[in-house]
Amino acid sequence: METETAMTEEFAARLKAYEGRPAAAGGIGKDHVNAPMIRHWCEAMGDTSPAYTGPDAIAPPTMLQVWTMGGLSGHTGGRAEAYDELLTLLDGAGCTAVVATDCEQEYLRPLRPGDEVGFDAVIESVSDRKRTKLGTGYFVTTRMDVRVDGELVGTHRFRILKYAPDHAKSGGRRPRPVINRDNAGFWEGVARHRLLIQRCAGCGTLRFPWLPGCNACGCLEWDTVEASGEGTVYSYVVMHHPPFPAFDPPYAVGVIELAEGVRIVSNVIGVPYDKVRIGMPVRLTFERYDDELELPVFRAGDGG
Ligand code: ZN
Repeated sequence: METETAMTEEFAARLKAYEGRPAAAGGIGKDHVNAPMIRHWCEAMGDTSPAYTGPDAIAPPTMLQVWTMGGLSGHTGGRAEAYDELLTLLDGAGCTAVVATDCEQEYLRPLRPGDEVGFDAVIESVSDRKRTKLGTGYFVTTRMDVRVDGELVGTHRFRILKYAPDHAKSGGRRPRPVINRDNAGFWEGVARHRLLIQRCAGCGTLRFPWLPGCNACGCLEWDTVEASGEGTVYSYVVMHHPPFPAFDPPYAVGVIELAEGVRIVSNVIGVPYDKVRIGMPVRLTFERYDDELELPVFRAGDGG
């Protein structure tokens, strides 16, 4: 129903009203353009251009956004209210998911060590309602203008898609496990309703999840033992957000400590999500989700 609300022309007009309003104002770069950050970037990117070293070095143009980023301690220039309002409006219309789609930069002149960067950003455009492979929503484009001493040195356009996730598209199917040579034996066990734990042939250490070798002694030989199915909730989280196809929040995800001592991440079923507790005894069962997928899960409560 939220999506229907978003379809109205009135809503589209409310979104369009944000075009031209500020997304960030009066930002100042945390650091002046500087040689150490340039060197780290070039090493990370594998960029060996001589333009970025030596006394006449410039910063790689693609570092433009770097000089504007707030880091873990936050921005020095405030994010403007209008941008938060726009995102809140879209959330309210059911477009709760977000993905960055693309970025365009223009470079007007090179940045050099010592330059102090200032920046402002504007909400440049909000698209009409678009249907995409991810879901239906709106593209929001912001444009950041980067200046040094008042002179425009570059622009950074950044586009996101705020969308209502298209649950129908995945058919509500859970993601498939990635089965490879290292874990195939585990999934073969699941198919026979057996939860198999690897046991090192060298030192006898049990391990889970499946790995090619033993972390305790390095031995590559192993066999398996079948889990008895008894366990306890070692830890858990309750997932509320974000929504994801095939999962119906809120639901509990537990780390189950098996009687054999290894731990496995799985769903806890058989009790309401808010009744799951650390130390709660659980028992292995196999839950079929569709014609291809059956998973080991853990049931709490009596009569499992
Ligand atoms: Zn070992």
